[in-house]
Amino acid sequence: MSPGTVLIVGASVAGVHTARALRGQGHEGRIVVAGAEPRPPYDKPPLSKRFLAGEWDAERLLLLTEQEAKDLDIELRLGNAAVGLEATGHLVRFEDGTEFRYAMCVVATGAAARPSPWQAGSGLHVVRTLDEATALRADLARGGHVVVVGAGFIGAETASTARALGREVTVVDPAAVPMGRVLGAELGRLFVSLHERHGVHTRFGRYVRSVTGSAGDLTVTLDDGEILRAGTVVVGIGATPNDGWLAGSGLNVADGVVCDAYCRAVGAEDVFAVGDVARWYHPGRQEHLRVEHWTNAVDQAVLVAHNIVHPEEPRPYAPVEYVWSDQYDWKIQIVGRPATAATHTVVGAFGENARAVALFGDEDNRLTAAVTVNWPRALVECRRLVAGGTTLAAAEQRLGALAQPPAPAQGAAS
Ligand SMILES: Cc1cc2nc3c(=O)[nH]c(=O)nc-3n(C[C@H](O)[C@H](O)[C@H](O)COP(=O)(O)OP(=O)(O)OC[C@H]3O[C@@H](n4cnc5c(N)ncnc54)[C@H](O)[C@@H]3O)c2cc1C
Repeated sequence: MSPGTVLIVGASVAGVHTARALRGQGHEGRIVVAGAEPRPPYDKPPLSKRFLAGEWDAERLLLLTEQEAKDLDIELRLGNAAVGLEATGHLVRFEDGTEFRYAMCVVATGAAARPSPWQAGSGLHVVRTLDEATALRADLARGGHVVVVGAGFIGAETASTARALGREVTVVDPAAVPMGRVLGAELGRLFVSLHERHGVHTRFGRYVRSVTGSAGDLTVTLDDGEILRAGTVVVGIGATPNDGWLAGSGLNVADGVVCDAYCRAVGAEDVFAVGDVARWYHPGRQEHLRVEHWTNAVDQAVLVAHNIVHPEEPRPYAPVEYVWSDQYDWKIQIVGRPATAATHTVVGAFGENARAVALFGDEDNRLTAAVTVNWPRALVECRRLVAGGTTLAAAEQRLGALAQPPAPAQGAAS
């Protein structure tokens, strides 16, 4: 049975993939994608990488061109933010005063960069949207010392891109090691070396007290009184879900839209949530999770499309988490949740010319997570092994074998 008009609020990775998947899976009714930004939907990961480096232009980021939308019969309503939802009335209100009645609504409003707690005249940046990345790109091109506050994925990638552009870079983070929350302390230490090997100054375990001045002439004061002069300051201290517009909607909103295992919003039969804004119940982990990774946004979109088109056979969403990050000469790929592991072992070598995997196990020595560097084949293998519940020892053996150079073909000249 066709659910009729599907309104998708949020026109980025999760929203566009939901629309595409709905059509792909046979939804014949109307599909409307409403987005706050006036520009066509674009992708985010290159914003801290090739777009920021000036290697790609905005055209290459497009997720859905006008022509594709037309061909797929997807209506794009851009430049008009949703400001309210009434679950009982099946109604979304927009900032221009219009209202839209849906049969089914998908909330895909993602997240925004956590704002900088410090104010400066100019030259102080966050990186989430294309406009923000464009402004930072222009400042980076002007030269000068770059101070990056926060050494998570976005901060580390921005530092890496700034170094590739020849900028002097200092990374400041109150944590003792970068990404310790994701990778654990031991692996986190490898990332300190990664930054330093690439000539980045680091200030871990240190707080920023203030940022003053303006672009080209900024002063960053640290907790111990040290003063860093900078042309540009980038603040990468996380993201917050865009869920404020759902206040009073009847949905359960608590750091994201709270959903059941099928990604259906708690409190509203005909509302689903996908991507960075969704806090859904992961049946495998037996807890609610909100994940801010690209692959999650896409996989969840495809699942929600299925659950809308085939309500008679709903599927729960129970992914093994996956994220990649490009930092300096490391292509980092993470499967599962390393930080919650009880034990780990390494195959290969991290460091210069790295090609390695860290395998993480639980108390029963089952493989639960893996981090690979510059080894995509190992990652594919690890995804399979984590999903299959392999033991850590068996995984180590398998990855060890993969690390060996292939035996020469029989009869080959020695
Ligand atoms: C710079 C950067 C680099 C990244 N790199 C990686 C990476 O290397 N690997 C990885 O796995 N992940 C990466 N990510 C994360 C990944 O891009 C996100 O997980 C993904 O964009 C989530 O998609 P989303 O559609 O849920 O949310 P978003 O991308 O945040 O999109 C939400 C959309 O909703 C719109 N919106 C918000 N509020 C409203 C409203 N009220 N009404 C209408 N529209 C609204 C917004 O304008 C936006 O277009 C990166 C993210 C950033 C910012």
